[in-house]
Amino acid sequence: MQINQLNLRTNTVTSNSNKTMEIYDVVIVGAGPIGLATAIGLHRRGIENILVIDQTRAFRQVGQVLDLLPNGLKALKYLDEQAYEAVKKTGNGFLNTQQSHDQKPAKTSPTWVYKNLQGQLIRSIPLSFDHWYQNYGEGRVSIAWYDLQTGLRNLLPPERVKANHRCLNVVDEPENNCVRIDCVSDQKIEANPYAYWAEGDQNLDTTPQKLTTKSLRAKLIVAADGINSTVRRVLYENSPYSDFARPEYSGFTAVSCREITDVPPELQTQLAEKFFEDSPIVTISNDQTSPDTASIDEPRMMLFRRPDGLLGYILHLAVPLASLQEKSGSDLLDLAMQQLEKAGFPDVIRELVRLSPPSNMQQRPYYIHHATTSDTKPQPAWSKGRVVLVGDAAHGMPPFMAQGANQGFEDALAVTTLITQIAETKNWDNQEAIATAFEKYENLRRPMMAYIQRATLTKFPHSSDAEWNKYGKQVYHRNFDQLTP
Ligand SMILES: Cc1cc2nc3c(=O)[nH]c(=O)nc-3n(C[C@H](O)[C@H](O)[C@H](O)COP(=O)(O)OP(=O)(O)OC[C@H]3O[C@@H](n4cnc5c(N)ncnc54)[C@H](O)[C@@H]3O)c2cc1C
Repeated sequence: MQINQLNLRTNTVTSNSNKTMEIYDVVIVGAGPIGLATAIGLHRRGIENILVIDQTRAFRQVGQVLDLLPNGLKALKYLDEQAYEAVKKTGNGFLNTQQSHDQKPAKTSPTWVYKNLQGQLIRSIPLSFDHWYQNYGEGRVSIAWYDLQTGLRNLLPPERVKANHRCLNVVDEPENNCVRIDCVSDQKIEANPYAYWAEGDQNLDTTPQKLTTKSLRAKLIVAADGINSTVRRVLYENSPYSDFARPEYSGFTAVSCREITDVPPELQTQLAEKFFEDSPIVTISNDQTSPDTASIDEPRMMLFRRPDGLLGYILHLAVPLASLQEKSGSDLLDLAMQQLEKAGFPDVIRELVRLSPPSNMQQRPYYIHHATTSDTKPQPAWSKGRVVLVGDAAHGMPPFMAQGANQGFEDALAVTTLITQIAETKNWDNQEAIATAFEKYENLRRPMMAYIQRATLTKFPHSSDAEWNKYGKQVYHRNFDQLTP
């Protein structure tokens, strides 16, 4: 890739009060995987006058494990080979640590199997990098969110990524040809019902601190501040699109138990024989082996054996949000048991779930920003003026097809390419060129997101081998000529 030194300059402007203000070319709000990947892509292409800000008081171990699939890895490789290599190395290491739970080594590479309630095999998906590489021209890895964040963060100069900057507001400043970002550094993190992890920094010093506010200025803002995006809220609130300011409940919730201790050996053997066989993870649902009986409303259980041999599960339930309110511990366990009974899950599974320690039970409702447009409820654009939404801020969704971060990397690639063109053509102050670029980004990305969300909410790729192959071709196998115009 050719690296152009596009921007070694610093923008400054003199305000009415004769103060000189620094203006970044791009401020990226959110140092999650997508914000950081965008920053790396811009930096590698010579746009160095950038800053990534994050609300976290300090970068720390949060988040879940993600599967990065061929499309996401391909996009990352286009963005920056070094980032791709770093992620691949950590991800392949993760898979190796997951394999050694029992005495006998696995005969082949680990697989994720899908079985029906009778224990019949519906689908078997090998997890190894090489298997995916052979099929789709790129591999697959699993990586913890925090490791992904750390790996990407380490590829940027440290002064370009700042924690403890919570964005509160973005304001257009046409008089200065820029947009202002108001931030606060404080003790408290706003309660976030949509977050994937506890946002309170419990382990950090809680001595009351002075609230510090700060304003930054940029030619462009890339909002990568996740599903509960503040920037999105600012763009859409008090507009005809206020309904889209916050994420909507998707209709699905995960109820999980991270570990079940004291599982009797006979039960372990039955589960191993009927469901796990050699796999570390099995998805069990009421799907029959014939295609047209798959229903997204049926409970689906992901049962896993951790490397230490302990069992756990995540149950995806189609339940109204109201039925979950305030439920925890044994109430949540009761809800899980009722749902499994109603769906006819076999005794062996219900026996296992009954052993869940109530203190290990958790719930996580899944939210969504719909990408589809309808005539009755037209969607707002993913950009306004100098501000553009990417990743979960634009199209957050439940993780059933493991595409949130993968699609976000595709956004990062498209947006990076288009911003690089703005820089190359010196169009930082050309509103029309900026609007055209962001419109192009959305035209490239929205149809794919609508397709992915349909797959997520209907599960159609799992309905038959033919559909699965078609989906694989469409999502994993395509190249990115379109995204790198
Ligand atoms: C259980 C689960 C499993 C998943 N599995 C997969 C998978 O297998 N594969 C996959 O591709 N995806 C998966 N996902 C989805 C994936 O985690 C998200 O799509 C991805 O993290 C989105 O990245 P992002 O950078 O857009 O947002 P986030 O990861 O949410 O990062 C947003 C960042 O912005 C910061 N921030 C938030 N508000 C502000 C503010 N006001 N000011 C400053 N900073 C702010 C946050 O601190 C955070 O660091 C899964 C999600 C869940 C919940």
